[in-house]
Amino acid sequence: MSDYLAGQVEAALDLRSWGAAIGGQDDLVALWSQLEPTLYGRPLRGGAVHSWDADHGTIRLEILRVAPGVTVLAADTRIDLVAVREPARLVHRCATCDRAGRAGYGVFHCRACGDAGQPDQVCVDHAVMLDGALTPSCPEHHPRCRDCDTAAVFWCAGVNCRARAAWCARHRARHPQDPDTDYCPGCYRLAFPVCEEQGCSSVGTVTCDWLGPHGKPCGQQACTRHARRWQVFGAERVGLGLCRNHSRIAGRPADELLYQICAGAARTRGVRVPSLPAFGHNLRNCGHRELAVDYRTIRAKLEAVRSRSAAGNGSAALTAALERAAVGWERELQQLRGHAAEGEQLLQRLQRLLLDQDPRWGREIAAGLSLQEYKPARTGGTSGDRAALLWVQLPDELHRYLIGPQGTRIKSYSQQLGAEVKLADRNRRGRR
Ligand SMILES: [Zn+2]
Ligand SMILES: [Zn+2]
Ligand SMILES: [Zn+2]
Ligand SMILES: [Zn+2]
Ligand SMILES: [Zn+2]
Ligand SMILES: [Zn+2]
Repeated sequence: MSDYLAGQVEAALDLRSWGAAIGGQDDLVALWSQLEPTLYGRPLRGGAVHSWDADHGTIRLEILRVAPGVTVLAADTRIDLVAVREPARLVHRCATCDRAGRAGYGVFHCRACGDAGQPDQVCVDHAVMLDGALTPSCPEHHPRCRDCDTAAVFWCAGVNCRARAAWCARHRARHPQDPDTDYCPGCYRLAFPVCEEQGCSSVGTVTCDWLGPHGKPCGQQACTRHARRWQVFGAERVGLGLCRNHSRIAGRPADELLYQICAGAARTRGVRVPSLPAFGHNLRNCGHRELAVDYRTIRAKLEAVRSRSAAGNGSAALTAALERAAVGWERELQQLRGHAAEGEQLLQRLQRLLLDQDPRWGREIAAGLSLQEYKPARTGGTSGDRAALLWVQLPDELHRYLIGPQGTRIKSYSQQLGAEVKLADRNRRGRR
């Protein structure tokens, strides 16, 4: 192995703890010619380290191998520097350090310097690193607050800024739970909207979906105490949010309600425009009791919503959603027409039962009866089994004669018909 040695000693010069800049081979030769004589007379041993404390730090010489027989370094001992360990900073120089005549290891890059075509490296000491993102810059390009142009201290994590806008300490809003996440005032309001009710500081989790005249949602945000959910898409789906101003929907015109529901469905991902019976249910809850069971009129009103939307009064999404729903509505209408015919037949049978079995009031009740809605029996549906329901209308003063003592008469008629006879009560809101 010793043949391999070009010199008698192989050594590595370690400049990593020495701060001065080495320009090239000449600098190195000059340095070495200063160092080498100080070693003369020193014992040599593989693995030994000699060091010099210099102005800019410490220089080390690591003896790697020593040829047999060489024990002390003399002027004629040939030393091969097989490695010069330079700090990486000699290649990556911090531009800020450079200007101060120092050598600094530029671990980071300043984007703004790079964009300006200038040396963009910056050392750990000079790197400006704001909270919220690992986006370093040099001191000269310290990011400014988006609002007040003072020195920024953090990157906003909010949806508008996405860690690309920096803000100062005065414009910093901290995440309530996560100490590492900060927002600018605008993004904070979006992430944690405060209920718009005066004096309420709860988080406004409900956004009002009521569409204004220009088709833009109201957008008021309120907490669950000061807003309501209009459950128009069934119990399993989140309904439309309504702020206090828009929460009184009972008594509003049916056309407006239908439009709001359709447009809300079209805007909500994963929600379909409701079925005719579901519209009926919603209309009934808003006080439109007659219309609630008049599916043909509901269908016609929905068609009017569609044609107004197609004429530019609504969005393309709304028009498309209504066109998709129309197929289902037609099917429902056909089915409901069948149900209505069945209901009329049952009503006639009920009238005959009354004439036959109630000599005192039967004639009067039969004359006062009209069909409100017939719902066939349902088995195995998601909401369980239900008997057939025959909803009838009757002047209030005759109700008790149809019902009979302890409900005996109406129960008997129901049994004979095979459908539960139900009295639609004009004073009751909604019914099942
Ligand atoms: Zn530096
Ligand atoms: Zn810079
Ligand atoms: Zn600021
Ligand atoms: Zn922001
Ligand atoms: Zn509130
Ligand atoms: Zn509103």
